[in-house]
Amino acid sequence: MHPLLRQQLAEATGADGVPDIDRLAALISATYADADEARRRADGAIAQMNQQLAELEATCNTLRATLDNVDQGILMVDADDRVKVCNRRACQLLDLPLDIADGSPPASAVEARIATGEFGVDSAFVETGRRKPPAALEPLSERRRPDGTILEVRAITLPDGGGVRTFTDITERREREAQIARAEADYRSLFEHAVIGVYRSSLDGRKMMRANPALARMSGYETEAELLAAVGDIAGEWYVDPNRRAEFRALLNANGRIDDFISEVYRHRTRERIWVSESAWLVRAEDGEPLYYEGMVIDATQRIRAEQRIAHMAHHDALTDLSTRNAFLDSLRSALRDRQAGRFVAVHCIDLDRFKDVNDTLGHPAGDQLLRAAARRLRAGLREAAEIARLGGDEFAVIQRNVADRSEAETLASRLARILSARYNIDGAAVHIGASIGVILADSGATAEDLMKNADIALYRAKAAGGSTYRVFDPSMAEAAQRRRALEIDLRGAVAKNQLSVYLQPIVDIADGRVVAFEALLRWRHPERGMMSPAEFIAIAEETGLIGSIGEWVLAEACAQAAASAGDFMVSVNLSPAQFRTRRVVRAVKAALAASGLDAARLALEITESVLLMDDEQTKATLAELRGLGVRFALDDFGAGYSSLSYLQKFRFDTIKIDRCFVASIDADQVNASLVRAVVSLGRDLGIAVVAEGIETEEQRDKLSSLGCRYAQGYLFGKPRPAREWLDQVGAAADAPTLMRRRA
Ligand code: C2E
Ligand code: MG
Ligand code: MG
Repeated sequence: MHPLLRQQLAEATGADGVPDIDRLAALISATYADADEARRRADGAIAQMNQQLAELEATCNTLRATLDNVDQGILMVDADDRVKVCNRRACQLLDLPLDIADGSPPASAVEARIATGEFGVDSAFVETGRRKPPAALEPLSERRRPDGTILEVRAITLPDGGGVRTFTDITERREREAQIARAEADYRSLFEHAVIGVYRSSLDGRKMMRANPALARMSGYETEAELLAAVGDIAGEWYVDPNRRAEFRALLNANGRIDDFISEVYRHRTRERIWVSESAWLVRAEDGEPLYYEGMVIDATQRIRAEQRIAHMAHHDALTDLSTRNAFLDSLRSALRDRQAGRFVAVHCIDLDRFKDVNDTLGHPAGDQLLRAAARRLRAGLREAAEIARLGGDEFAVIQRNVADRSEAETLASRLARILSARYNIDGAAVHIGASIGVILADSGATAEDLMKNADIALYRAKAAGGSTYRVFDPSMAEAAQRRRALEIDLRGAVAKNQLSVYLQPIVDIADGRVVAFEALLRWRHPERGMMSPAEFIAIAEETGLIGSIGEWVLAEACAQAAASAGDFMVSVNLSPAQFRTRRVVRAVKAALAASGLDAARLALEITESVLLMDDEQTKATLAELRGLGVRFALDDFGAGYSSLSYLQKFRFDTIKIDRCFVASIDADQVNASLVRAVVSLGRDLGIAVVAEGIETEEQRDKLSSLGCRYAQGYLFGKPRPAREWLDQVGAAADAPTLMRRRA
């Protein structure tokens, strides 16, 4: 019997042992009612459970789908070391079949699959934390697959003893990182090895935050650390002129960057001054907030020094360190601008007299020394502020400011002439030169160029006056200069237009008045100016080089005339010093002799001592060659220049011609008379014929005769006249040409 029924039967049975049937029935039906209730309840619970199960399964499915779709591989092992989860991504990454986790296989089985597969990872690959002491567990590691992809493996130990591993393909990330690292290494290398300085500095511009080795070296330090430690305040310690730093920062702040900013700075450690070129820029955060400055520094010392040298060279003459013409013109312009009302600016153009002779005689190095010495004297003789220039060659110029009147300028000019004319000592040799000065005073309206041009005209006048003097410009000089230019143009066409002719002037034996020779004297029949003396145009011919062709023409003409005449007289032709600078004169003499057929011994060449003064190899060779041709030489204008008797020793002359200036005053001047007597006796001793030039009066003739002079030339005996006129007259009468020749 069911215990419940037994209990209900006992309850329904009375003391008489007889069960009360109604009561029993009541008990039993109550029990059935309870059972129904219980079943109903159970059914409800089951239905609920079923629903929950269905929900759970749906959740599981969702989770699985989620797990299968995440980009991370997930592998989970439970506390019993069974693989519970291995999602699709894990299968892919670990090369496992998709159903590997079905049936929760033991982890060792999965490990074995992995180990046998192509994916040769270590066996501990799927190990969970449970099987390893927690400390030894690598929470984060990396594995490289045979195909090169890299997996990041994270291990998490679960509280119940199981474990989860996640696998992430980080190949791309690593690649990117490697790229960044390479780029950084690249930039670092640039930074470290750059030869230009690179730095980063704080926003206040005082502190240096980074510096590369080049900047450290540029600052006199070995390393960046030394430099950063040493620099306290960039502005205060770096810049020679602290304002330069302020300028730099102002520009930088205004423009956000700055390029090739040149400043003079100190080499930080040594305090040596160097020049740098800086480029810098402001670096901002993403939100635009200024962060710091970065910049580059180039040692520009050599560049700047070279630029300074070039600038100095452009403005200073290398030989004397005086200003150049251009710099001088600039100063002159500013002097004119700054001129006070009622005051003048004076320009003094200076040309050394006989400088060329020194150069030719003592050589160029001596000439350079002389120029330097002259420059020193000018500097010493003038106020500190005076602008002094070397315009070129032996030409100098001085600006005199704030001049009250003409006499003040003249005072300076004569002082400069005196200073420059004092004796020089060049390599132990005493050298005398003079200085010619052209002065111009400017008040208003004159340009610098005009002033220079006019000062030059005045200088030309000073030269023409014999040098060692000054001339102050006046407008009539400009007219003369203009005339001279016009003359130069005319002279160029003179030979071709047949305007030149050779006149002859007789040289006679004083004793009997016989013509022994003729001097050929050039004449120019100018279409407007009429007959012109060479005194008026030979200088122009010399300066323009026309003297070469004119000289040739004179030689040919004179030789032709002499050869064509019946007499046997000599013909004397003047040669310019300028003609000795080339060999051309030798060819010209040869050609003239050959063309005319004149005996070389009948041709005398008149030269002045300035030819001998040149004393260069070219001149010596030319003289020797001419002498070799058999022509004679006359020393012209003796007494007019320096008249050093040493020239007579240096070169063998056949004739000495005493200059007209001696003769002119011979009656009155006892000294001149003595000199003439001395020259005459010298000539007699040396076997050189002596001719007195410019005899105009019978007194002069007699005086010279009494002094022993044998030959004479001058208006008294005949003026220069066209050859035809003379030759007709003298004709066969001239029979004493040998008198002019050097006696053996
Ligand atoms: P020079 O060689 O000393 O010639 C003498 C000059 O004195 C000539 O001047 C002549 O006319 C002048 N004269 C002669 N007798 C008297 C006189 O009694 N009184 C005065 N007051 N003067 C007299 P000119 O012809 O004007 O020549 C001047 C200079 O030009 C010459 O001086 C000579 O150095 C140069 N010259 C002349 N012809 C030529 C030439 O063909 N070539 C070169 N290079 N120079 C020449
Ligand atoms: Mg002469
Ligand atoms: Mg003469």
